[in-house]
Amino acid sequence: MARKKKGLLIVVSGPAGVGKGTVNAALMQKHPEIRMSVSVTTRAPRPGEIEGVHYFFRTKEEFDRMIDEDAFLEYMHVFGMNYYGTPKAFVETERNKGNHVILEIDVQGAMKVKSRCPDAVLVFIAPPSLKVLKDRLVGRGTETQESIDVRTATALEELKKLPDYDYMVINDVVEEAVADMEAILSAELNRTARNQTLITKLTGGETI
Ligand code: 5GP
Repeated sequence: MARKKKGLLIVVSGPAGVGKGTVNAALMQKHPEIRMSVSVTTRAPRPGEIEGVHYFFRTKEEFDRMIDEDAFLEYMHVFGMNYYGTPKAFVETERNKGNHVILEIDVQGAMKVKSRCPDAVLVFIAPPSLKVLKDRLVGRGTETQESIDVRTATALEELKKLPDYDYMVINDVVEEAVADMEAILSAELNRTARNQTLITKLTGGETI
């Protein structure tokens, strides 16, 4: 029997409030072979956030220990206050099982992952306009005015990094954004570079 192919590593970035979480959750509901990496952070949980589901919430000291143990695929200091990091072990284990892993991380983290894992697929989720983005952030009701201002300014900087990504998906209608994500996954799985084993068999004249 053919060995299962290594799963895809999909990095999803986009400004706060763009709906990355909504798009990814809808995608995962349709595709049980997709896993979401849970990051470690030093920031305080927001109301409703669950340990081990949204993040692993850790102290700065615990985070530093994980850095020393080389436990992160990448980690980043975001918004001048908090640390965020992607645990390495989960990503490798799941990909080796043939599952696809999504990392929902910021643009700097995405670039680090791309340099460490050149086969990673980088997707940027963009808003249809800056106005829509700001309205969504205000509507969330969990952010202070200062936080909204910082995040809007950060969003502009992040949008400038869009050309460094492999794909952009506009999140206007969630179902359409999910369909775009599915199309990207499908195309990536059909890349010749990801099908070397089968290509070798076919070109080797094997008939079984
Ligand atoms: P939030 O505090 O709103 O949950 O996330 C703030 C930012 O940190 C978002 O842009 C989010 O994508 C990013 N982020 C979350 N986890 C990680 C991670 O493990 N690594 C990096 N580099 N960024 C992350």
